[in-house]
Amino acid sequence: MKKFNEPIQVTRPLFPRLKDYVGNLEDVWESQWLSNGGKQHQLLEKELQAHMGAPNISLFNNGTIALLTAIQSLRLQGEVITTPFSFPATTHALQWNNITPVFCDLDEHRLTIDPLKIESLITSKTSAILGVHVYGVPCHVREIQQIADRHGLRVIYDAAHAFGTQIGGHPIASFGDISMFSFHPTKLFHTGEGGALVYNDDNLKQRIEYLKNFGIKNEEEVILPGINGKMSEVQASLGRTVLPLVEEERAKRAQLRAVYKEIFKLNENIVVIDPGEDVVNSEQYFCIRIKAKDNEINRDYVYEQLKTLNIFSRKYFYPLISSYPCYKNLKSAESSNLPVAEQAAKEVLCLPFYGSLGVDAVSSIAGEVVKIVN
Ligand SMILES: *Cc1c(COP(=O)(O)O)cnc(C)c1O
Repeated sequence: MKKFNEPIQVTRPLFPRLKDYVGNLEDVWESQWLSNGGKQHQLLEKELQAHMGAPNISLFNNGTIALLTAIQSLRLQGEVITTPFSFPATTHALQWNNITPVFCDLDEHRLTIDPLKIESLITSKTSAILGVHVYGVPCHVREIQQIADRHGLRVIYDAAHAFGTQIGGHPIASFGDISMFSFHPTKLFHTGEGGALVYNDDNLKQRIEYLKNFGIKNEEEVILPGINGKMSEVQASLGRTVLPLVEEERAKRAQLRAVYKEIFKLNENIVVIDPGEDVVNSEQYFCIRIKAKDNEINRDYVYEQLKTLNIFSRKYFYPLISSYPCYKNLKSAESSNLPVAEQAAKEVLCLPFYGSLGVDAVSSIAGEVVKIVN
């Protein structure tokens, strides 16, 4: 077996040319303005609004603070129905708002929240549903909205993986009350660290803007218990340099996805997780499920074998959030409530996936995976 000379990671941040970034930074120095909605911030907001087809957008210093603020802005309380199959930030944002997370099992194919299992979890305390478009695969947005409407619930989406995702030509953020995006360096579009909320209701704008700036209305009035969620000019100008590169990166990744899929096509032990028919793929991750042949050739074995070849895949998302010590005693965290999620967490593996990786490297990684499972 051929070992890669350099370690291959699951992703690599998109780096623009340094001189392009310096060009934008010169404007920042010229303005002598570093935060609080400066010129770069205003320009990035406009550029993203157009790029994402966003009715309203508010930029943040990271996605987690954005999600905390989204929950505050809708005045959620009590219980929120959510997924255990995500990054820790999704559930922690509820806990930091003193809300009890209620874990719902997953759709077997999409690995997003199963709409058929939501209603039995609704109680008189439920205030919202918080879904995650995991790997950019959209939740069952229409079914979820119908349930929410029937029960008077709000809908928030963690769209951290879904930058650029569309369903039947509709931008992903047009569904639900608020969608959160992360602009962390591991995300397709990034601002070094950063995030955003996108929402349809114009009336939310003012409240969100106050909440992300300590609740300050003017020099003499502080009207809400806000937080510091502001994106700086240094972040915004990096984002403005990265944004023009995103579509080319997505196209390269789409090509790599096709190479992986072709090689895995006829292998019954490897299932590719794909967003489905009329969906534009964000190309955030490339993930498969390893269907264990016996007890030995399983996901963990593949993960370890790849490591010996200098290929560093990731077990996204293992362990489930519901198994963290801080959540495992909740009733909804019981294994019997989450059979699909528990199985998925044992099988998923995200493989290296970024434009500059190239077709040859992807062919050999895929070839090695096939050799390992066969
Ligand atoms: C990256 C990520 C977050 C957190 O975003 P930050 O910008 O790092 O705070 C939240 N949820 C999911 C699903 C993520 O992948």
